[in-house]
Amino acid sequence: MVQKSLSLNTNGIKKNFSKMAFNFSIIPRDDPKQALRLRRFFVTFVIYALNISIFYFAYLAGIVNLQALYGLGIILLTINVILYIVFRTSLNLRMSDPSLTTIQMCAAILVVMYAIYHAYEVRGLIFSMYILILLFGIFRLYTSQFLFISGFALLTYGIDIGLLKMFHQQNINLKIELFQWFGLAVVLVSVSFIGGNISSLRRELSVSRRKLQSSLTVIREMAIHDDLTGFFNRTHLMDLIETESSRSVRNGSVFSLAMIDIDKFKNINDTYGHQTGDYVLKTFAAVIRSILRKTDFCGRYGGEEFLIVLTQTDLHAAKVFAERIRDCVEKSLFPSLGPDSRVTVSVGLTVYRMPENIERTIARADEALYRAKNGGRNRVEYSE
Ligand code: GH3
Ligand code: MG
Ligand code: MG
Repeated sequence: MVQKSLSLNTNGIKKNFSKMAFNFSIIPRDDPKQALRLRRFFVTFVIYALNISIFYFAYLAGIVNLQALYGLGIILLTINVILYIVFRTSLNLRMSDPSLTTIQMCAAILVVMYAIYHAYEVRGLIFSMYILILLFGIFRLYTSQFLFISGFALLTYGIDIGLLKMFHQQNINLKIELFQWFGLAVVLVSVSFIGGNISSLRRELSVSRRKLQSSLTVIREMAIHDDLTGFFNRTHLMDLIETESSRSVRNGSVFSLAMIDIDKFKNINDTYGHQTGDYVLKTFAAVIRSILRKTDFCGRYGGEEFLIVLTQTDLHAAKVFAERIRDCVEKSLFPSLGPDSRVTVSVGLTVYRMPENIERTIARADEALYRAKNGGRNRVEYSE
């Protein structure tokens, strides 16, 4: 019994462990932004590894000692392990810049400071690393941030010169070092301004890309909607009805069409003016929208004529719905017309008979609407 529960327990642990191992990935799969940041981190890691190899060759050439090589390895490993943990545990998301650009650049500058101190004659080569480090901020940092990083680099190099002067006076020519420091300052400040310009260009580009995208969305919306009522325009409405009819043919689903026409709308225009007529159309659209089900859609078929597609709805249910619309419009207030005026609609109903052409369905709805008008308006008629 004990043995059984023990074996069950270890099985559970094994299961959990394999689940963890299965769930864990070096780069997260569920967050594309974090994945991108980690991929960039690995690129940096490879560059660090290449730099270590330069130091290793310097060691083979007898320029740097083994202690310095180990030291550099340990520093790089520590920095990268810490950074990886921060990224993988999403601690970086709490920072204002989750890519940790400035922090990573400062860490790299400290590594360069260490390398310069130990590099003796090849110090000049290591200078180029500063440019490499600044390149990492080229798409992100402002000129002021570049200048800050450059200032930090110059400070660390200054500290290097001081330390070398104190502890390795025989290896250092102060005049040359100061000259190099000054040269480095000119280069870094120049790169800072160029980098700042490039990243501001990139920012402008991404702003205009966002504007373009939102304009595109607006254009797409405009292309399918009627701007007065907000309903679909005739072209898109016909596409949707076509799609609905194909679906109906494919899976046998039923849908009905309701053609709605505002009664004596010309009188409204003639009495109150065209602009008031427009307001009436807008209010009418709001009334329809408030009763439309999520699965139904409405389009402006003509001037004051609308088509509602009632999906998954047979003629019987469509009649109930159409009656509701008629009643609702009749009871609605149209403020632009004054308190006593009423607006009514006539509705022609039909159901789609597969596999007919949708023009035939619409013609039947139109014919029913004609009967509703002839029958005295403010009523619903249907054609089977
Ligand atoms: P019926 O009851 O038979 O439908 O009569 P009606 O007056 O509503 O129909 P008719 O077709 O004679 O007139 C429709 C009017 O709708 C004519 C047209 O000027 C007007 N109209 C069409 N589109 C618009 C629009 O966008 N705004 C305004 N204000 N009027 C419009
Ligand atoms: Mg009309
Ligand atoms: Mg009409």
